[in-house]
Amino acid sequence: MATFSLHGIPVSRGIAIGRAHLLKAAAREVKHYLVSEEKVEAEVRRLSEAIAAVHAELQAVRSDLPPDAPSELAAFIDVHALILSDPIIAEDPLRIIRSRHYNAEWALLTQIDELSAQFDEIEDAYLRERKNDIRQVGERVLKMLTGSASSLPTSSDPDDFAPQMIIVAHDISPADMLQFRDRSFVGFVTDLGGQNSHTAIVARSLDIPAAVGMGNASALIAEDDWVIIDGDAGIVIVDPAAVVLEQYREAQAKLMRERKKLGKLKKTPAITRDGTFIHLLANIELPEDCPGALELGAVGVGLFRSEFLFMGRTGQSARLPSEDEQFESYRKAVVAMKGRPVTIRTLDVGADKPLDKDEETALNPALGLRAIRYCLSDPPMFLTQLRAILRASAYGPIRLLIPMLAHAFEIDQTLALIEQAKQQLRDSKKKFDEQIEVGAMIEIPAAALTLPLFIKRLDFLSIGTNDLIQYTLAIDRVDHEVAHLYNPLHPAVLQLLSMTITAGARAGIPVAVCGEIAGDTKLTRLLLGMGLREFSMHPAQLLTVKQEVLNSDIATLEPAVRRILKAYEPSVIADGVERLKLL
Ligand code: PEP
Ligand code: MG
Repeated sequence: MATFSLHGIPVSRGIAIGRAHLLKAAAREVKHYLVSEEKVEAEVRRLSEAIAAVHAELQAVRSDLPPDAPSELAAFIDVHALILSDPIIAEDPLRIIRSRHYNAEWALLTQIDELSAQFDEIEDAYLRERKNDIRQVGERVLKMLTGSASSLPTSSDPDDFAPQMIIVAHDISPADMLQFRDRSFVGFVTDLGGQNSHTAIVARSLDIPAAVGMGNASALIAEDDWVIIDGDAGIVIVDPAAVVLEQYREAQAKLMRERKKLGKLKKTPAITRDGTFIHLLANIELPEDCPGALELGAVGVGLFRSEFLFMGRTGQSARLPSEDEQFESYRKAVVAMKGRPVTIRTLDVGADKPLDKDEETALNPALGLRAIRYCLSDPPMFLTQLRAILRASAYGPIRLLIPMLAHAFEIDQTLALIEQAKQQLRDSKKKFDEQIEVGAMIEIPAAALTLPLFIKRLDFLSIGTNDLIQYTLAIDRVDHEVAHLYNPLHPAVLQLLSMTITAGARAGIPVAVCGEIAGDTKLTRLLLGMGLREFSMHPAQLLTVKQEVLNSDIATLEPAVRRILKAYEPSVIADGVERLKLL
C-alpha cells in the first residue's frame, strides 16, 4: 500500500510510531427495522435496560478510577452520566419507538443525529465540541444494545498485544480511554475532536501523542497499517517509506533522550552554577494538580487560580461554592503539598474568565469589574472565600495572593476584610494561621510604578506578566487581532519587571513571576540576571526551566542583563537576550 499522510489538529505533543488498531463505531453497523405494535413496549424496555446498564458501567468505571488517573477523567465521566440521565437520551428515544415503531438502535441514532444537527448551529466552539459527548454516550448505549461492548482486544495480558499499538477511531470517549491506559498503546488518531475535546485534554494529561479532527482517518487507515503520529504538527503518516520511518525513529529517540535526561532532574535542587537556589513553583487550577506538580519537583505552589472552583458550575451546584466546599479544596491542596507553601490567589473573575457564561459582558471587560474589584464589590462572597482559605491554613503553609491591585485603598480594604474574616473565625473558635502572609499580584503598570505602597503593606509580590503585558501595551490578551503585539521583551515591560524585582530585593520581600514567561526557557536567564529567584509556572515546564537554571551563572548574567535593560531598540534587546544563552 502506498504512503499517505493526513492532516488534523495537533493536541498533544511528541512522536508515536506503531501499528494501527481500529475501534469500530457501533453507529455504523446499526440495523434499522420497524417493530410491530405488540412488540413496541418490549423494544422500549430493551432500550431502557441498555441505558441503565451503561449507567451502571459508567459508575463502575468512575469508582474504579486508578489514583493516578488524570483529574479531568472523573469529571468527564460524570458529564457522560449526566447526559445519559437527561430526558434527551433517557426519554425522547423511547417516545420515538412508541410513535414511529423504530427499533431501539434506530430510535436512539435518530435522536442523536437530531441533537447533533442542533449543536452544529451553536457558534461557541467549546459548546459545539460537546456534541461529541452526546455521540459518545450514544455509542456506548448502541454497543450495549448490539452486544459489542468492547472493541478492544480482550486479553488481560499486555504482552499479548502488538508492542506499539496506535488506536484509530471515529471518536474515543474518556471512559474508553481509561481502558487503554494499561495496554501498550502509544498514540491515537480520531476523525472527530478539536483542541477543546475531552479526548484532547485527556491525551495531554496522559502525555500521549495524538492527532484529532482527522476527517475520515478511521475509514482510510486499515488494521495493522504502520502509522506515525507527529503530535507537534498534527500529521499522521500511514505506511511510511523506510527512510521516513527511520527519520522519525531518530527524532523520537532524540526526544526520549531529552525527556529521560530531564526526568532525572526531578529531585535535583534548582541551584545555579554559582550556587544560588532558585524556587521553582507550580501554577495549579485544582487541588488535583498537586501530586503531578510534586512529582515534577515543584517546591511549592506559586499560584493556585482559585477561580476554577467557581467557574463552569451547572445544575444543582450553580451557586457559588460554599465556605466548606472551598475549605475542602484548599485543605486538599495544602495537605497534598506536604509542608511546601501553597499560594492561593483570591477569586480572579471577570474579563477573560467570566463566572457565568450568560453574564452580560461589560463594555471593556479587561478594564472592568474583575479580580479584587469584583471581590471588594461583594464583601460577603469575599469573606466566605477568605474564611475558607484561612481555615485551610491550619493544615499547612498558605500564602494569600490578591490579584489586580492598583490603589492603596484597595490594599487597605482587602487587609481590613482579611482581619474581619480572622475575627469571625476567632469568634467561632476555628483554627487558622494568625501570621498568614498576604501578597499582591503586580499586574497593572500603576502597581509596578508605586511599589512602596505595596511593600509597606504586604509580605510578598508576584508579577502577573500575562496581565502586566496586556495593560502596559494596551492589547487585549484574548483578541487574536492584536496577538502579534504581545511582547514580553518590549522595553516598557522589561523596565516594569526589573523595577519590581529590584524594589522587592531592596526591601527584603520575596518577588515571584507567575505569568507565562516564568515557564519560557528563552527568558529564564534574562529573569535570573534581573534578580528573580522565584518562578511559578505550569508544572509541565518545571524541568526544562530547571535545566536552564542549572546551566546559568548569575554573576555573568547580571552585567549582560544590565546592558539589555539600558537598550530601547528591539533588535538590540533581542540580540542581547539571544546572547545570554552563550554565557
Ligand atoms: C497573569 O496575569 O500573569 C497571571 C498569572 O494571572 P492570570 O493569567 O490568571 O490572569
Ligand atoms: Mg492576571
